[in-house]
Amino acid sequence: MRPIPVLVSTVATLLVSAFVLAVPAQGDLVRDGTHQDLCFVSTIDFDAVTAGLSADLAECEESPVIEFDHGSVSLPDPGESIILFIDAVEGAQSHTLEVARGLDGEVAASQDGEVNGSLAVKRLLRTEQLSLASEQGSEFVESGSFGVGGSVGTQSTTPTDGSNPAKCAMEPAPYSLLGVASYRTWTWYYLPAGQPSNLSQSNVINRISAAANTWINFQNSCAISVAPAYLYQSYAGTTGGSGGIAQDQNGKLSCSTKPNVSNVGWVNYGNISALAATCNWAPLGGNDISTTTFNSYYPWRDAASTSGCSGGYDYQAVATHELGHAFGLAHVADTSHQVMKVHPAGGYCDMTARKLGRGDIRGLRHIYGYRP
Ligand SMILES: [Zn+2]
Repeated sequence: MRPIPVLVSTVATLLVSAFVLAVPAQGDLVRDGTHQDLCFVSTIDFDAVTAGLSADLAECEESPVIEFDHGSVSLPDPGESIILFIDAVEGAQSHTLEVARGLDGEVAASQDGEVNGSLAVKRLLRTEQLSLASEQGSEFVESGSFGVGGSVGTQSTTPTDGSNPAKCAMEPAPYSLLGVASYRTWTWYYLPAGQPSNLSQSNVINRISAAANTWINFQNSCAISVAPAYLYQSYAGTTGGSGGIAQDQNGKLSCSTKPNVSNVGWVNYGNISALAATCNWAPLGGNDISTTTFNSYYPWRDAASTSGCSGGYDYQAVATHELGHAFGLAHVADTSHQVMKVHPAGGYCDMTARKLGRGDIRGLRHIYGYRP
């Protein structure tokens, strides 16, 4: 007879039981409609984000992550917003997920335009402004001052590079703004760790830089002559880590930890629909930090022209789209054939997104103007 181990075992069982009882299951947040004991959960369902959430979060030392159907976003600091763009391969859906907090800590979240949470913060959500911006977008038609030196400059409503005619048409030429973005100089680091072995590091850095210059210099398919934007870039070198985009055990992507700098790089996310992803960490009313990663599970190509490309996605074209997000633009309809269309890569070796369409120019020019 050895009673002491039995007693220890019983006490341990009681302690474990008490601990399990004290930790609510994640689903309870949805079922009972309350937010008690939020400090004990690591994730909160998008459906459970309500106007009362912020008061319950105020006491927590560590903030939970907001979990959407297609990804997750960590809770931003008061006065900030975090947006995750998941750009899908052909045939799959792209997604835009955002969490914003007002200065008083109130929370609102948006999933592909559906909004939950604080009404006050809802008005601050950058993705909430999309519908308004989309309506305004086509009204921002270039006037006589569109081109260099006050003249319209040479331009064509027919693409000069064989792109779809909608890309250069005067109407609708749509764009969608993420509110006011405020990069003056986009300083970025390269994450080479996951780079596909068929690519050269110097080529990748040059092509990402070229993708940024496409926006800065308004390089377009429509022969539109316009002075550069008040936007600059500065390449700052290579660095390690994931750039703040993580992947959970189910393969979903997450804007997890805000990095100190903007990053572009590669991660093998495996066989998920995300071809590339961008996270913007932004104070409300401006851009601050962005990270773009390409999913190296898929084949990527580095080609000077379509004749030199086969069997993979053109990363310069996809990078141009992702940097459009970094610089303050959201998606427009695929039928518009702009760089910021929902699915940037039509398929392997589609390079049309290396050059802007008319709506892309209007959008970026709306944010940054142009240098006289
Ligand atoms: Zn996108």
